[in-house]
Amino acid sequence: MNGFSEVTVVGAGPCGSFAALNLAKHGVKVTVFEEHKEIGVPTHCAGHLSIKNLKRLGLDSLPKGIIENSFKGAVIHAPYNTELTVKFNSPVTCTVNRALFDKYIARLAENAGANYMLNSRVKSLKIKGKTVEGVILQNKQVFSSKIVIDAEGISARLLKQAGLPSNNRMIVKSVQIEVENVKNVNLDLVEVFLGNNYAPGFYAWLIPKRDGKAKVGLAVSRGNPENYLQKLIHKHPKASEKLGTTKILQKSFHSISLGGPISKPYSNGFLVVGDAASQVKPTTGGGLILGMTCAKIAAKTAFEALERNNFSSSFLRKYKQICDENLGLDFSVMLKIRKLLNSLSDRKIEETIRFFKRMSLEKTFQKIEDIDFQGRSLLKILWKPRISLALIYLILTFLSNP
Ligand SMILES: Cc1cc2nc3c(=O)[nH]c(=O)nc-3n(C[C@H](O)[C@H](O)[C@H](O)COP(=O)(O)OP(=O)(O)OC[C@H]3O[C@@H](n4cnc5c(N)ncnc54)[C@H](O)[C@@H]3O)c2cc1C
Repeated sequence: MNGFSEVTVVGAGPCGSFAALNLAKHGVKVTVFEEHKEIGVPTHCAGHLSIKNLKRLGLDSLPKGIIENSFKGAVIHAPYNTELTVKFNSPVTCTVNRALFDKYIARLAENAGANYMLNSRVKSLKIKGKTVEGVILQNKQVFSSKIVIDAEGISARLLKQAGLPSNNRMIVKSVQIEVENVKNVNLDLVEVFLGNNYAPGFYAWLIPKRDGKAKVGLAVSRGNPENYLQKLIHKHPKASEKLGTTKILQKSFHSISLGGPISKPYSNGFLVVGDAASQVKPTTGGGLILGMTCAKIAAKTAFEALERNNFSSSFLRKYKQICDENLGLDFSVMLKIRKLLNSLSDRKIEETIRFFKRMSLEKTFQKIEDIDFQGRSLLKILWKPRISLALIYLILTFLSNP
């Protein structure tokens, strides 16, 4: 059975479903193909999100059960023994159950009129000349459409076929576990562990849940993440106190692309969103808010293309232009911060955090209005004398020997 839909979405992750939701709301006929039998499973993500930006995306009233905990701030553990706590007066972030979150967005899209085809793996794009005209499923069925939105996550197998650049720059390999019996944690704070001994090229995290369990993970730019996780659990002076006697309930492995968005996320009849387009924060690896923000822009662009009956690359490039206007500064600042962090030795990171603490910079960090749009947030606090001083310190640190 071959089929047709005005827009086809590949992948029912949050970005694919959010694009579908925003198209279906406009009455567009949209079909989402998901390779798994169940949406949101298997899950690989910590689901740590900014409450403010969930609201901005219109997702502030998540049903009970999806939000597992909310947080007023974070404890940052420097590579040796310095600890810096940044705490706000009220919750600023939350952690969601990713499987339930993905299912919820898909249900919203379905209720708005989107059609879901589960257990349906897209094998390749249907291309005529240089234009994408639909998808070909694993079972050889052909599904035609005017626009295909690629939301297949980091694997991004379809990008190459569409002749687009890949998202495989600055990839880190991650492992995440869910544990029970975690000790000595403040349920209001997430914890971050820095240092090349435990998470070279990234960091480790501990996200406590209200039910006594926690999500613990890390990513590394070299070596086996599993070995680093064992070391974190059993050897890290602070983490081992919290995790040494925990029981692992679940484990997953996945990659995260930290290189910033791909340079061309569109071609004739084709748009790329979310992890497939590497719309992920290079600093923290968070991709939900920015990916869904771009998915919404892609949906708007696709809707306008349908109205004008123009699916050419020269029209669809509008998608990238709007993403750049909205997020370009943030991505480029975050990429620079990631490169700076990667270039610093553990000793320098320790010294920097100690310096931040001495300067009571955690109070200034509390003025950061937005943890997702980090470029503009940093620019807003840049004029503050303490931050200017810290920047000078950082530049000097960066320029001096490791
Ligand atoms: C360990 C870890 C922790 C993370 N923690 C956070 C966090 O705390 N906060 C945050 O914001 N981000 C986090 N991220 C990043 C976040 O998980 C991703 O940015 C987000 O899932 C991207 O959504 P997506 O819809 O683009 O892709 P995905 O969520 O990967 O969804 C892609 C979907 O496409 C389907 N698919 C793939 N290929 C095909 C095909 N050929 N045919 C049909 N279906 C297909 C897949 O089955 C999947 O359902 C984390 C990532 C990792 C690895």
